[in-house]
Amino acid sequence: MTQTTDIVIAGGGAIGASIAYHLAASGLGARVLVLEPDPTYARAASALSAASIRQQFSSPVNIRASLFGIDFLRRAGDVLAVDGERPEIGLREGGYLFLATEAGQTVLAQNHALQTKLGADIAHFDAVCLRQQFPWLSTEGLEAGCWGRSGEGWFDGYSLLQAFRRKARALGVEFRKAAVVSLDMSGGTCRAVVLDDGTHVACGQLAIAAGTGARTLVRQTGFDIPVHAKKRMIFTFECRETLSDFPLLIDPTGVYCRPEGTGYLCGSAPSADADPDAAHSLEGGDFEVDYQFFDDHVWPVLAARVPAFEAIKRGRAWAGHYDMNGFDHNALVGSVPGTSNVWLANGFSGHGLQQSPAVGRYLSDRMQRTAATAIDLSDLAPVRLLENRPLVEKNVV
Ligand SMILES: Cc1cc2nc3c(=O)[nH]c(=O)nc-3n(C[C@H](O)[C@H](O)[C@H](O)COP(=O)(O)OP(=O)(O)OC[C@H]3O[C@@H](n4cnc5c(N)ncnc54)[C@H](O)[C@@H]3O)c2cc1C
Repeated sequence: MTQTTDIVIAGGGAIGASIAYHLAASGLGARVLVLEPDPTYARAASALSAASIRQQFSSPVNIRASLFGIDFLRRAGDVLAVDGERPEIGLREGGYLFLATEAGQTVLAQNHALQTKLGADIAHFDAVCLRQQFPWLSTEGLEAGCWGRSGEGWFDGYSLLQAFRRKARALGVEFRKAAVVSLDMSGGTCRAVVLDDGTHVACGQLAIAAGTGARTLVRQTGFDIPVHAKKRMIFTFECRETLSDFPLLIDPTGVYCRPEGTGYLCGSAPSADADPDAAHSLEGGDFEVDYQFFDDHVWPVLAARVPAFEAIKRGRAWAGHYDMNGFDHNALVGSVPGTSNVWLANGFSGHGLQQSPAVGRYLSDRMQRTAATAIDLSDLAPVRLLENRPLVEKNVV
């Protein structure tokens, strides 16, 4: 069977659904087909995420993307409403609190200067001010901290994904349950995609937004991306004491924690030598939770940093996969080198949900050859891999 459409999007997670929504909302009338093998999103990063948003990055492009993101999230109820029904994405602007020891305080101050210059609302505290502002915090070993007064916090990532999807459908986008298994390439142009049921879909353009499944598809264009699936676990717990104005806390060790419902969620990246690649989720993958990791690496750090967390009751936990760009830990967004009509949005590590509004708008503008894009994400162009020009992000959580 053969079908024809203007634009195919491989992957219907938050990134693919945002691209689809922005294409449809532009009103330029392209026919858009989103192919997603698992509409339950059971293993998609977008559904398993900590769904938090921060301006505290070290790369200007990431700060710009998250400033765009927070503006979009604040307006999401209006912008993504369908027939008067406003989606509820549960945005809470509780701020991130990045903590630094003596070793990290110079970089923290440099990042703070850049973030505020670009318009982020971040306060810088020395250890004395930290104690006053956050009385539940142990400042042992700390020299400074930066806290987002506004524009940072957390939301419901699954609801954002569903809101993009619902609005895109209302605007005429077709979502189909199918996986793209191969690309019909000819001289750098993708003529069609082949689906797992054998259907050929001829297309004018293809956007690959397939999370940890993207690399297999990109390779078929003759280009390769060093994006690896990495398992990350999220643990939840309850604490008897009420701690007022608790933000998303990032300890200098990398352990993080934020409020979730009546309790908290937390996690940490494993050390590099204990962080093997995970198999792609469509091939099974490893989604096992290792509670020993919480007991050995997460809880001891949190209990030392927040003494009230010495007595907690652990709750549910789950694991998801980051699509991690080993080259420079930044996303790859833009045209696939060597092709005329294939686009990529991948390699987001732990910040793809907050970047989904900016990435969707940027790629929609680029694919429709809009003269000036609403946001400039050209620093994330995949061609930097060929040019060996890393754009290193120092604040990867
Ligand atoms: C534990 C964890 C915590 C995180 N915390 C945060 C956070 O606090 N803030 C933040 O901004 N981000 C966070 N992230 C990252 C964020 O969730 C991801 O970057 C983002 O969801 C990526 O969206 P996506 O649409 O690219 O990928 P996904 O949501 O994984 O969607 C990709 C989709 O592509 C589909 N697919 C795969 N192969 C194919 C194929 N061959 N054909 C068609 N479709 C295919 C899959 O079924 C999947 O549904 C976190 C991620 C994890 C795992």
